[in-house]
Amino acid sequence: AEKSQDMPSHLQLDLSEDDGQPLLARFTYVDEGTCIGCKNCAFVARNTFFMEDDHGRARVWNQGGDSLELVDEAIDSCPVNCIHFVSYEDLWSHV
Ligand code: SF4
Repeated sequence: AEKSQDMPSHLQLDLSEDDGQPLLARFTYVDEGTCIGCKNCAFVARNTFFMEDDHGRARVWNQGGDSLELVDEAIDSCPVNCIHFVSYEDLWSHV
């Protein structure tokens, strides 16, 4: 299905047809309280991050939207180190 920036990423994960579990082993998460809205990550990996309008912070909309290399590059580009890899459980507990 098409993914949307209007819906949280954990609600539109790609799941296995066999057991309903997520296909990815880890997920990308922005600590929006720490994000300073510099837009670097959304520029580097635009199929993963977008700038959320209300608070001007970055948010992940599409888990697995970019290659791991690009996501790593986005993480390296963040001046305040607020992008983290998290487990499936942590992804849910953060929302
Ligand atoms: Fe926020 Fe970091 Fe992305 Fe800049 S690179 S918008 S500080 S998450």
